[in-house]
Amino acid sequence: MRIGIGNDIHRLIENRPLTLGGVEIPSEKGAVGHSDADALLHAITDAILGALALGDIGSHFSDKDERWRNADSSVFLSDAVRLMKEKDFRVVNLDSMVSLEKPKLRPYIYKMRENIAAILEIEIDCVSVKAKTGEKVDAVGEEKAVKAEVIVLLEQPPC
Ligand code: MG
Repeated sequence: MRIGIGNDIHRLIENRPLTLGGVEIPSEKGAVGHSDADALLHAITDAILGALALGDIGSHFSDKDERWRNADSSVFLSDAVRLMKEKDFRVVNLDSMVSLEKPKLRPYIYKMRENIAAILEIEIDCVSVKAKTGEKVDAVGEEKAVKAEVIVLLEQPPC
């Protein structure tokens, strides 16, 4: 068994799309980033890489690399999954938390879980996405940022 942790934060500004867990969310503000700035998929990518001690998302996908400008972050996560499978690991389960002041994420959670489960090649029941606000304090509460935290458990099936 291996356990991995990942987190991510992106600044929010007007006139940018907001993508979380591969779902584009109607919002006054969107996340700033080199790629599509999907904080949840970035945190999951880091958690899987972390579980395998394979570095972090920045060491695999530099934000200086023009190939990743506005990239769909599922590309990063899919690559982490490829590296995981090369080592004969699979995901047991994943728990995550997205912190965003508004809009409310509840209507989009199921689709996020579906997207993540498909990329990880596991059942949706093994993917948890929870949403919190920042209670009007800190960067999240002041609507300046979106944040994601992830923990993942991997196993190597017996031969
Ligand atoms: Mg990021």
